[in-house]
Amino acid sequence: MNAGAAIKVLSVASEVFPLIKTGGLADVAGALPQALARTGVGVRTLLPCYPVVREKVKKAVLEHEFTEFFGGKARILSARFNDIDLYLLEAPHLYDRPGNPYTMPDGANWPDNALRFAALARAAASIGQGLLKNWQPDIVHAHDWQAGLTPAYLVYDGGPRPKTVMTVHNLAFQGQFPPEMLGRLGLPSHAWRLDGVEYYGTIGYLKSGLQFADRITTVSPTYAAEIRGPDAGMGLDGLLNVRARDLSGIINGIDTRVWDPAADDALESTYDTDNFGARWLNKKALQERMGLDRSDDALLLGVISRLSWQKGLDLVLQSLPTIMEFGGQVALLGAGDTNLVEGFRAAMGQYPGRVSCEFGFDESLAHQIQAGCDAILVPSRFEPCGLTQLCALRYGAVPVVARVGGLADTIIDANEMALGAGVATGIQFFPVTLDAYTGALQRAAELYARPDDWQLLQTNGMTTDVSWAGPARRYADLYRTLLGR
Ligand code: ADP
Repeated sequence: MNAGAAIKVLSVASEVFPLIKTGGLADVAGALPQALARTGVGVRTLLPCYPVVREKVKKAVLEHEFTEFFGGKARILSARFNDIDLYLLEAPHLYDRPGNPYTMPDGANWPDNALRFAALARAAASIGQGLLKNWQPDIVHAHDWQAGLTPAYLVYDGGPRPKTVMTVHNLAFQGQFPPEMLGRLGLPSHAWRLDGVEYYGTIGYLKSGLQFADRITTVSPTYAAEIRGPDAGMGLDGLLNVRARDLSGIINGIDTRVWDPAADDALESTYDTDNFGARWLNKKALQERMGLDRSDDALLLGVISRLSWQKGLDLVLQSLPTIMEFGGQVALLGAGDTNLVEGFRAAMGQYPGRVSCEFGFDESLAHQIQAGCDAILVPSRFEPCGLTQLCALRYGAVPVVARVGGLADTIIDANEMALGAGVATGIQFFPVTLDAYTGALQRAAELYARPDDWQLLQTNGMTTDVSWAGPARRYADLYRTLLGR
């Protein structure tokens, strides 16, 4: 473990790649600690010990035992996995369940999620107060609503406490639970106040984090500004405006070892900018794997996404006639809303050989789509940061994105000036309407017909720094400021 590092941070997250992942939070929680280690910040990460985590982490050391913890016995174990220093909260009555960390096999939330994630936050707060013999953090960094109660516990416990940071990866997920739970969560009755944990008649986990953390960050500067308005603010804009001085946006990076087209086992053919010609073999392989017509010339558009309203995929469905008109193809990998799954299933039937979809979560196929597609579509209605477009840049798939949140901050639109200056990396559109979207797709098709311009977009993307180095420096600066160092 990183015993000698200057700043000690406990990161608290409900998913950490590669142990367990449902979305971008896991990528961030998995990669940021390693990047921070290079800036003199030593991070340890607290994660629930789900069955898949126990399977993957073979060796663990007992650090603490609770005889009674939210309805059963629990232990804190330490372990090291993939260069990540972990504390695992082992509480079989809360976490020994199959599949997804939040939902039952039928997709509904676990009925005791209030307790499951209060336990995570409670353990984090206690570690922050010195529960463990060998290590105590200077800062506790809570991610998303699942860790949101951590700063609240620290404040209501009173006494000396570490500094706290609350990071919002997606304000749409807020964690709201019935007020009757207050006592069972171990919160005092005076916490039930507008400037406490109360949130529109519920206990708001994310709200509590935003209320009590010393600093609030979100995952892009544009999203940090957007969430202070009524649309993106989703009920929390008032509080975020009150806390505006403590709110900032730090863009995410991606793990450039996991996402490296020059050394990616999942690919038919590895490549980089010096060996760019080898990329086309991945297009061929992808068309074959997904049952698309073999064509070098067809503009192959990829989608890798949760299938949800947020991600704007209904626009992809509606724009299929336009895509067919210019001879494009669509390769989609996604899981989520039934109506979207059905829509895309029907589209496969309607456009055989031109539209192909796989429904589920498939890390290898995600890499193959990034390497095989000409462009990646991200028409999100809102997007805190977005990782898919960062992976696309690195793999030379041109991102076609809505100009919102982190998409606005990471892609340089191929307007005439940017093309002239040789700096464009993708295509942006706004507002997020079908009209604007089909306009962007047509621009993509026009640019694709100009191979020199198109390839410049691709190679500009591939040489953009999408690593964690820059973001990690910004987090390290934030921690230092917070500690007055
Ligand atoms: P989210 O809002 O879902 O967190 P992000 O773009 O921030 O969106 O991160 C999602 C991450 O998960 C990206 O790395 C994306 O490529 C990946 N992803 C999304 N859906 C799938 C899927 N069905 N299979 C594999 N990877 C996926």
